[in-house]
Amino acid sequence: MKNPDRKAWLLGGDALCSNPPDPPPGPSWRLVLLGAPGVGKGTQAELLCERLGACHLSTGDILRNAKCEGTRKLTPALEAALSSMRQGALVSDETMLELVGERGRCLRCCGGFVLDGFPRTVAQAEALDALLKREGVGLDLVFDYELPTKEIVARLSGRRLCPECKAVYHLTHQPPEKAGICDVCGGRLIRREDDRPETILTRMRVYEENTRPLLEWYGRQGLLVRVPAHGTPDEIYARGWTCGRSMENGRTPPSGKAGRGSTAGGAALAPPARPS
Ligand code: AMP
Repeated sequence: MKNPDRKAWLLGGDALCSNPPDPPPGPSWRLVLLGAPGVGKGTQAELLCERLGACHLSTGDILRNAKCEGTRKLTPALEAALSSMRQGALVSDETMLELVGERGRCLRCCGGFVLDGFPRTVAQAEALDALLKREGVGLDLVFDYELPTKEIVARLSGRRLCPECKAVYHLTHQPPEKAGICDVCGGRLIRREDDRPETILTRMRVYEENTRPLLEWYGRQGLLVRVPAHGTPDEIYARGWTCGRSMENGRTPPSGKAGRGSTAGGAALAPPARPS
């Protein structure tokens, strides 16, 4: 499956993807991923996108990309956003809604999407509902990945990543062959600025206060799928669809479309067919 370059998402404004997704043979999936920082949302987002042909829409990536573009192009609002990010605090709803609001074409894109890191507050969830309505699309499912806090903190403090090719490592669970060097491209591994121990605790508190209420919000809409996030990425991926399927037994699927399955993940990992 094609690997979209996400230019329209990362740059916003008039930017267009040079490698846009192909129209899918079946319905496209529009998913939101929730879960505390470090629970593995990014890895699941990559798997879901690869297997569903959807685009990975991460708001953290928009901000990190703006930072890489250099300070010359930063508006005062973006500079304030990057400062909040460094401290592990949330960027203001106003700034986030402006960034996501100007990316409506990504929300209605024929390939579908996996939203990772947005919404993070009830105000953002309300705004997302309105935006999706404006674009004439709706959410299919909201996956919430769950792990004990102690495990999350251990994961985040040992996480290292390659700034060149974005490969992710863990000092104990998935170390590179040569300490500090990326196995894939030879880049020098770094720790994300917001993965420092003092910042991690702030991010966890911020999650509890601001984002946890979204579980009730999406639960009420009948979209929430709770997924225990232990095990390998493939196990968590498969468990997500199993939990989703059991949830669908008690309600009408949101879009009433048949799932189009997976081309890369194999039949065992294909999302369930949605009854028509
Ligand atoms: P992430 O990569 O999703 O962990 O996001 C990294 C940081 O970007 C967060 O800790 C926040 O500072 C900021 N951020 C990303 N998405 C949002 C959002 N939807 N609302 C507020 N802040 C955000």
